[in-house]
Amino acid sequence: MDDETIYMGVDVSATTVKAALVNAEGEICEITQEAIGDDPSVVLEGVRRCVERLRDRASERRWPIRSAGVGVPGLVNARTRRVEAAPNLPALVKANVSEAVAELLRCPVLVENDANMAAYGEFVCGAARGRSNVIYIAVGTGIGAGVICEGKLYRGSLGFAGEFGHTTVDPEGLPCACGNRGCLETIASGPNIVRRARERLFRDRSSSLSSLALPGKGELTPERIATEALTGDDFSLMILEQTGKWIGIAVANVINLLNPDMVVLGGGVMVAGELLLNPIIAEVKRRAFAAMAAHCEIVTSLLGGQAGVIGSAMLARDTFR
Ligand SMILES: [Zn+2]
Repeated sequence: MDDETIYMGVDVSATTVKAALVNAEGEICEITQEAIGDDPSVVLEGVRRCVERLRDRASERRWPIRSAGVGVPGLVNARTRRVEAAPNLPALVKANVSEAVAELLRCPVLVENDANMAAYGEFVCGAARGRSNVIYIAVGTGIGAGVICEGKLYRGSLGFAGEFGHTTVDPEGLPCACGNRGCLETIASGPNIVRRARERLFRDRSSSLSSLALPGKGELTPERIATEALTGDDFSLMILEQTGKWIGIAVANVINLLNPDMVVLGGGVMVAGELLLNPIIAEVKRRAFAAMAAHCEIVTSLLGGQAGVIGSAMLARDTFR
């Protein structure tokens, strides 16, 4: 493995920075992570620690780092490469993450929306390998998407394309951090699945999760709801089914708009697997044009939590070739 050409992928989420050294085949050679919070200096410190650690490991093994990609949960201006908005981690607007990485590595650095990075990862070496028109959707703290159009990442006029989580699904719904009301994210993101579950649990005391509805009674998380659903808890199954229905409505709209080969669903909430995937597929069949729904495979992510770091490294590899 000596003298192998290496790319660095950095994936910043609302709570964690993850970074990896990835070889030209898209395989992870080293990976590390740091917890962060919503403060510019804390974000930068977490990024620096991850990058320095991996830079030192690469130099020990005499692996030259050719380029690096940084995925961030925000709107990245395609021309200036600045983060213009980041509802789930506002500190990113002030923290110049890509400059910090470039200073440490002295190689070309590309900053891009995190869902775009993960979409590229799934397209190059994950579930959507070999497909040309792909929509990747990440359901986690927020809901993001990346669009691969005719084999290329589609960025739109300003670089902001793919804000799938902020499509309106309920005109009278709750206010969203983006300024709109009734966005998909206000219903189906991880924190909002928990909110809906908590609200229902006050009324329905028959679930194995009921004790968690009260503040201070343990943590209610999307993962916990998925685990209870897997053991047959009707309430948890119902919450996942409703969530799938909402996501399915938005997916059907996008399928009608773009006629993709594949929709890949990733992000932390997809640990629920088929319990969430099946209601999404059922709703798409109900709403999208039959020919387009039949052509479009809807699957869960193959790279899982590593899609972001692998995609970031691979997009840097292909951008600075
Ligand atoms: Zn919104």
